[in-house]
Amino acid sequence: MQEAPVHLPSENLSDAILQQLKYGLGKDAAHATRTDWRLALSLAIRDRIVDPWFASTRTTYAKQGKRVYYLSMEFLIGRLLEDAAVNLGLMDEVTAFFDERGLDAKAVIADEPDAALGNGGLGRLAACFLESMSSLGCPAHGYGIRYEHGLFRQSFDDGRQVEAPEDWLSEPHAWEFERAEVEYRIGFGGHVAEENGQTRWYPGEAVLARAYDTPVIGWKGAWANTLRLWSARPEQIFDLSRFNAGDYYGAAHQEALARTISRVLYPDDTTDEGKRLRLKQEYFFTAASLHDILRRFDSEYDDLSLLPEKVAIQLNDTHPAIAGPELIRILHDERGLSFEQAVEIARGCLAYTNHTLLPEALERWSVGLMAHLLPRHMQIIERMDALHAEAHPDRHVRLIDHGDVHMGPLAFTTAHRVNGVSALHSELMKDTVFAELNRLHPGRIVNQTNGVTPRRWMLSANPRLSALITEAIGDGWVGDLEQLQQLEPLAEDAGFVEAFAKAKRANKADLAAYLGKEGTGVDPDAMFDVQIKRIHEYKRQHLNILQTIALWQEMKDDPKGDWVPTLKIFGGKAAPGYFFAKDIIRLINKVAEVVNRDPDTRHLLRVAYPANYNVSLAERLIPAAEVSQQISTAGKEASGTGNMKFALNGALTIGTLDGANVEIRELVGAENFFLFGMTAEEVVARRQVEGHAWQAISADPRLARALEAIRHGTFGHGFGGIVDNVSGPDYFLVSSDFTDYWRASRELDAAYRDPKAWTRKAILNVARSGWFSSDRTIRGYMADIWDAKALSVD
Ligand SMILES: *Cc1c(COP(=O)(O)O)cnc(C)c1O
Repeated sequence: MQEAPVHLPSENLSDAILQQLKYGLGKDAAHATRTDWRLALSLAIRDRIVDPWFASTRTTYAKQGKRVYYLSMEFLIGRLLEDAAVNLGLMDEVTAFFDERGLDAKAVIADEPDAALGNGGLGRLAACFLESMSSLGCPAHGYGIRYEHGLFRQSFDDGRQVEAPEDWLSEPHAWEFERAEVEYRIGFGGHVAEENGQTRWYPGEAVLARAYDTPVIGWKGAWANTLRLWSARPEQIFDLSRFNAGDYYGAAHQEALARTISRVLYPDDTTDEGKRLRLKQEYFFTAASLHDILRRFDSEYDDLSLLPEKVAIQLNDTHPAIAGPELIRILHDERGLSFEQAVEIARGCLAYTNHTLLPEALERWSVGLMAHLLPRHMQIIERMDALHAEAHPDRHVRLIDHGDVHMGPLAFTTAHRVNGVSALHSELMKDTVFAELNRLHPGRIVNQTNGVTPRRWMLSANPRLSALITEAIGDGWVGDLEQLQQLEPLAEDAGFVEAFAKAKRANKADLAAYLGKEGTGVDPDAMFDVQIKRIHEYKRQHLNILQTIALWQEMKDDPKGDWVPTLKIFGGKAAPGYFFAKDIIRLINKVAEVVNRDPDTRHLLRVAYPANYNVSLAERLIPAAEVSQQISTAGKEASGTGNMKFALNGALTIGTLDGANVEIRELVGAENFFLFGMTAEEVVARRQVEGHAWQAISADPRLARALEAIRHGTFGHGFGGIVDNVSGPDYFLVSSDFTDYWRASRELDAAYRDPKAWTRKAILNVARSGWFSSDRTIRGYMADIWDAKALSVD
């Protein structure tokens, strides 16, 4: 939004909102729409952020603190208004202001578009990290792309996923400051020349990267960092001579091409689309960020060897891995350091977070494409590859292999630390993808188990439980989540147990009302059992829906049986080109249609699939959840962060020994977690068994019958692919884990029948989940990877 405040912000929030409405938006209160109120409120709150934001920057300069730069292709930030109001302690005033005017503060807040500049866990992690870095006073910038269109909007048509473009910028965006003066020229293509012993790259085309800043305020408003997003612009707005010649399309061609780079988020978080545009996006934001980092460094220091002492650059996955070659190029070609020095300094600054072991998700680019788009970088990568091979002649790790540049090994060799995101994942990295690199560089791989920010995922998403906790142990837990441990003895306190159950029940009623609006009649006394995440075979939504079908069949056999009434909730999007995942979505929706209208069972079992899962929907669903489904094929989920949000909000997990589930189970206690399924090792062994799926199906009549029903069209047609897959190759071992999943699910039902004992377990989940705060994760990065210190404004 461009409007500059034309007045001094009032001390009083009510006055400030009214001033912003009038002078910032030019609206009269009598005619203000909900959006006007939301924008006025946002601008008034933004005004409160500016002073601490400036003070944080001044402090960092004054103390010459080390700065952290978090480079991420994705920031799944969701709505920002409530986060800021909560962190500034303004929520009560906000609510009172709107109450006085007969307006619903919640509805005003919910008017903000959900900024979905990410696909899922990786992008949400970056958003939680930004908030934690501010809450801790770690001087940091987030760098990413200001996508015009974030993740697509999902709806269903006859059960099928339909994608529509997301248009979050169609309304004024209240939080950002456009920095017209911060603009860098980013080149592509062209040629490389040798001049007087120096190598120079002459790009054949270029676009401009313009900065847009969003301040990110931390808990209690003590510190604020910046999220700087880059938007692509043409060097020349349009071709006037073509325009004058009547060629209007041609005149605008260059502009359209340039803007394409920041037009859309790739709607796929696990497979490499192999698109030229994607590589351009990656280089675009990485190069702009490095220019910016070096400009800031140059303004304070004149000795490049100080870079690793003053600058930490974290690569969130390999998407910004071109940072290694780019930094080396700048230091060597443009700043005149020797190649070896340049490599050493770059490595001292860079660290890389790996997020996946799935082979299809490990990024690689063809040498041809890389050489065409980034000819100088390709030369540098070749030289790095040769140096590495020379240093380790008996080894086979190559950065370039079979005509492809492998971004994982490239990131590994240009970083001083490489981290996995859960204990299990970091260990598996050492044995699988980076086994050989780990032998060559022992100690480089470290673990930093993911976390989530308690401000958003507890304090603002779950006000009832938060109030109850604060009443019991004070509010210190919000900034120091491990204090939740003080709740442990209260698990034995009848009054607290009752109040806890009441808060959960009220959250369920809210969600039931919301889902009711979406057309599913829902009983708030049913057990709320939730699986929300991207739809992917490794996450195994199809295992859950198969079990749901089998349960429905047994309920139909014996509708008078002692069943636990259950509401199964699914949420999540599938990548548009991922047809198997889209079939899973359609199957879930078709099962819902059949089950929800079955007069024999509809009082026992319902299935809900609210469309367009995003951060805001997660904030509604998680506080109301009682069961958290974390059922990935062991060895495939790097960490998960959804699993942490649920445990923190008092849902019990049913899950495999995968990702951070392992650590959740250790911390909350095996008796408060429903474990099933094969371990990562057993998964590998099981795949070697010939006909494993078919064997599992023959041994389990429930599974056989559920598959039969699908095959026979009970839920409509077109699901042959799913049935054939889980009865045939079944790479993700749905059939082999089914029987144990059924067992654990029924144990879970049995536990639910004892409400007091269940609530006790839920309380212990909350009390023991403090370790999953992203504050703890960021402290770990600061100590083990960045060597950065927290600062505070004096
Ligand atoms: C937390 C979160 C995720 C990650 O969920 P996982 O279960 O860890 O895959 C994805 N999307 C949204 C909107 C989230 O809030």
